[in-house]
Amino acid sequence: MNTLKKVITSFTFILFCTSSFAFTLVLDAGHGGQDAGAIGSFSKEKNINLTYVLALGEKIAANHKDVKIIYTRTTDVFIPLNERAQIANKANADLFMSIHTNSAKNKTANGTETFTLGHARSKENMELAMLENSVILLEEDYQKTYQGFDPNSTDSYIMFQFMQDQYMEQSIKFADLIQQNFSKNTPLTDRGVRQAGFLVLRATTMPSVLVELGFISNREEEKYLNRKENQDKMVDAIYEAFVNYKRVLEKKNGGQPIEHGKNTTIHTTPTPQQTTTSTPTQKPTNTSTVVTESNILFKVQFLVSKKKYKEGNAIFKGVTNIDSYVENGFYKYTTGSTSDIDAINQLKNDVAKKFPDAFVIAYKNGKRCNIHDAIKEVSDKK
Ligand SMILES: [Zn+2]
Repeated sequence: MNTLKKVITSFTFILFCTSSFAFTLVLDAGHGGQDAGAIGSFSKEKNINLTYVLALGEKIAANHKDVKIIYTRTTDVFIPLNERAQIANKANADLFMSIHTNSAKNKTANGTETFTLGHARSKENMELAMLENSVILLEEDYQKTYQGFDPNSTDSYIMFQFMQDQYMEQSIKFADLIQQNFSKNTPLTDRGVRQAGFLVLRATTMPSVLVELGFISNREEEKYLNRKENQDKMVDAIYEAFVNYKRVLEKKNGGQPIEHGKNTTIHTTPTPQQTTTSTPTQKPTNTSTVVTESNILFKVQFLVSKKKYKEGNAIFKGVTNIDSYVENGFYKYTTGSTSDIDAINQLKNDVAKKFPDAFVIAYKNGKRCNIHDAIKEVSDKK
């Protein structure tokens, strides 16, 4: 144990020596170039997004020398969606923030909202994701790049029902802070934190959010968003959310700067998907039960708790065949175990009646694996 600790310490030390930045933030101004985004009565989304992103980056850079800021664009140029995410992934960023301006057919729609990746539960959220994702149609090789993803077909979005995003909790925390500060700093309606299948978020490998500043399709809100003093208030709100988010992360890390990027986790913990920490102490219980004739298995995860509960406990609301594993100090409870996609989706829908946030996770040879890869592997076999 002692040697492991030494290895971890020395590894962290090396990282701090090689990088003077403790935190890498990627700021993504949505759209650009031939892709104007939503168009208002006198302004364009791409320009609003860029103005806000540059102001936000400037403010963070001025006050936080330990933050490395990477912009996906600083001028009016077209950048493919995938490339935006790749910039963040290559930089091993700690946080990805995409800034957009909303638009709706209903001209009275108004307010701010922040999205994290997930399954859209309302038609409205689905339509917005479709609208934002449709920019890939401007890319030459979009069918190849996005593996047949059709941004305008609801079928393409079924995948997001299965999504298990390991950065979901952190992303939602940050999104929540942004919305709280928008409410505090601005008179705009708080439309809350939402989930939808945004391609740009799907392709990132770190906590990520997509902010919709307000509605360019609403005459009053368009004016509001374009006024300098309001821009300052909005940017301050996001800035404060960022500072808060970073502070909480550092606190969790014992007051130390955050270890840079994801590499540390990979090098210092043997199984990043199933990290066991000191509290609670039990090992994952699933490893012996998930290996059957098929090497891919799906389960429905529906509950997370600090406590260990036995099958039959009222907390499970009658859900049976309970299994659990430990991750980041939490017990994560699952039910079901099958290689049949339709069966697991049916089970997920049943469980979701009692636990609306239930989602599907995948195992390969007894180890947690990427849900996309698992679905693909099972589909290819058919
Ligand atoms: Zn947009």
